[in-house]
Amino acid sequence: MNLTRRGFLKLSGLSIAALASGLGFDLEAAEAKGYALKLSGCTKIPSICHFCSGGCGLLLHVKDGKLVHLEGNPDNPINEGGLCPKAASLEQVAYSPDRPKTPLYRAPGATEWKELSWDEAIERIAKKTVEIREKTWKKTDEITDAKTGEKKTVPANRAEGLAMIGSAEVDNEESYLLTKFARLIGTPFHEHQARI
Ligand code: SF4
Repeated sequence: MNLTRRGFLKLSGLSIAALASGLGFDLEAAEAKGYALKLSGCTKIPSICHFCSGGCGLLLHVKDGKLVHLEGNPDNPINEGGLCPKAASLEQVAYSPDRPKTPLYRAPGATEWKELSWDEAIERIAKKTVEIREKTWKKTDEITDAKTGEKKTVPANRAEGLAMIGSAEVDNEESYLLTKFARLIGTPFHEHQARI
């Protein structure tokens, strides 16, 4: 018999199921019991997958501050309980030793990244935003009237040195706030990473 890898796995699964039922095990009941045991004492927290901009809903099962299990949220109208493999592996992202947990800063010309506290990073970003906004603020524009050829000075009021970039990692609510923030600081340059 010529057996492919997929065929072999299917056959082994069927054989184990047949053996288990032959011995009187109810696999479905055992699975349900294992699931219930794993989640006992967990708090269920609805969340949003941050991997792509699909906005699929998650249910996070957390015990003692640790993510024990995650699954698709059946009440979410976008994914109705389904999840793609990227979201299903989010637990590994949360606990990966390679995940940066503090802001990193590389000074101009430096080759090494330096860790900053969140307060230091926010303060630096805020100061730089104000500095660049003041330096590059465009109060007026020169335009030429298409009919008369007459030159006019009109109000512009925009921050040309600042830009806002969205990300697939940003969910709907964050996008709403980012858009408001872009209007607030006066930048007309508001783009999404996927269009660059
Ligand atoms: S579950 Fe998959 S499709 Fe849905 S938002 Fe996450 S990465 Fe995108």
